[in-house]
Amino acid sequence: MAATRTLNENLKKAAPFRAKIEERGLKNIINGRHVNALSGKTYDNGSPIDSSFICTVAAGDAADIDAAALAAQAAFPAWAALPTKQRRDLLYRVADLIEENAEELALLESIDTGQPIRFMSKAAVRGAANFRFFADRVESANDGLSLPTSEHLNYTIRQPIGPVGVITPWNTPFMLSTWKIAPALAAGCTIVHKPAELSPVTAQRLTEIIHEAGISPGVINLVNGFGETAGKALTEHPAIKAIAFVGETTTGSQIMRQGAATLKRVHFELGGKNPIIVFADADFERALDTAVFMKYSLNGERCTSSSRLLIERPIYNEFSAKLAQRVKNLKVGHPLDPNSEIGPLIHQSHWDKVSSYVAIGQEDGATLMAGDGQHPAGLEGGAYITPTFFKDATPTMRIAQEEIFGPFLTAIPFDGAEEALQIANGVNYGLAAYIWTKDITRAMKMAHQVEVGMVWVNSQNVRHLPAPFGGVKNSGIGRDGGDYSFDFYMETKNISIALGDHHIPKLGA
Ligand code: NAD
Repeated sequence: MAATRTLNENLKKAAPFRAKIEERGLKNIINGRHVNALSGKTYDNGSPIDSSFICTVAAGDAADIDAAALAAQAAFPAWAALPTKQRRDLLYRVADLIEENAEELALLESIDTGQPIRFMSKAAVRGAANFRFFADRVESANDGLSLPTSEHLNYTIRQPIGPVGVITPWNTPFMLSTWKIAPALAAGCTIVHKPAELSPVTAQRLTEIIHEAGISPGVINLVNGFGETAGKALTEHPAIKAIAFVGETTTGSQIMRQGAATLKRVHFELGGKNPIIVFADADFERALDTAVFMKYSLNGERCTSSSRLLIERPIYNEFSAKLAQRVKNLKVGHPLDPNSEIGPLIHQSHWDKVSSYVAIGQEDGATLMAGDGQHPAGLEGGAYITPTFFKDATPTMRIAQEEIFGPFLTAIPFDGAEEALQIANGVNYGLAAYIWTKDITRAMKMAHQVEVGMVWVNSQNVRHLPAPFGGVKNSGIGRDGGDYSFDFYMETKNISIALGDHHIPKLGA
């Protein structure tokens, strides 16, 4: 609904939700209770729209993580042992409540992250779909294999690994949190969630909703705070058996080091520099729509965004020119305005980073086709940036190698499939690739050879929840989605039962 109202109507709708969190501030939620950080420390959370104050946030640290991890540990046996039908029904209830609160969640997420409401309304509903999807699978989560021999019946079962830590980033935080929390709860794990310090608002509402649905205190705990303190302590805590992390590649390696002493199982969804490869025979208009949508939706702050545009030379100039025109037409504006296609970036510090790549691209000799890395006119008060498009990049330029994570696209020409593949694979990342061609043999061959975890052929990024999601190389470790999620949140146990009198060697007889 929020996506069809005017900006003023949305501001009016959002006002009471915003006033409530401004008055109460965000606390930690440990064992079902809203609590201040044990140190009493807080930090201020502001909106990227205009730097206005949203609320204070509890600045949790190791002591709060310890309390939360012990609560999750204490709640684990009962939650893991709950009859599966009950667990399933509780997750359905969470999904229903997310839908009932979708408007509040979408409006607050837009204000907290700067993401346009046209996308955030869908993200809230997607969160509910994630819960419903994994609720449907609660009853099969424990399923295993039957592996009989003539003398033994081997069979496997899956059991929840224990309390887990979920660490989420600032881009689309609500949707990403549900993508981790729903399968962990479905598997029978208990959770300590540490949301990103720059966008903590909807995590509190999600934790509350999970409690409102009737899930017992301690099953999910929320600790706000910074990565170096709260996040680090969570990855080091001995009661926490696994860390599901979404964020930057460098943070992933840090977490691996931090978790080494306690042998943490880790699941990493990290950065990307995803190619969209457009061959001359592609459906020109649909490929153009995809290139624009996959880079400039969600403010370009999207791990699966197509940030490298590889165009076959015969259509290179025409495709680039049309794309530049589309980029110039993009509507940058207040995220609660349903007409806005791009809102402000998450924070001024991120604006500085994205903006700096305009000079880097120019110094390296690429051609600037759209954008200047500055504020659009009239939007100087927030972290708004003009959408940028460079062409004539070479594959080794920094704008063709580094994750910029903003509305910033780099085009590179290529001649033939071999060169396209070489360029596509010539980065450290390997999350997703988009291939556009009518030649099915070429598409299939390339899909097999491109070094990524996910390939979309003649398609934008359409998620199918049972399908595996994740990256290779510096883009991650492990897969989410369907049964793949349970492989992470559960241990597989083999049970072997003798069927008769098999041979047992006699020693010391
Ligand atoms: P980030 O790595 O800076 O932070 C992510 C989370 O990690 C935050 O909650 C932060 O507080 C925490 N953290 C930071 N240092 C930590 C430490 N030492 N120990 C434990 N936790 C720590 O990432 P970000 O800037 O918030 O998010 C953007 C990044 O996320 C981009 O690189 C993007 O590609 C990636 N991302 C990947 C996917 C995917 O599916 N592959 C999805 C979304 C975002």
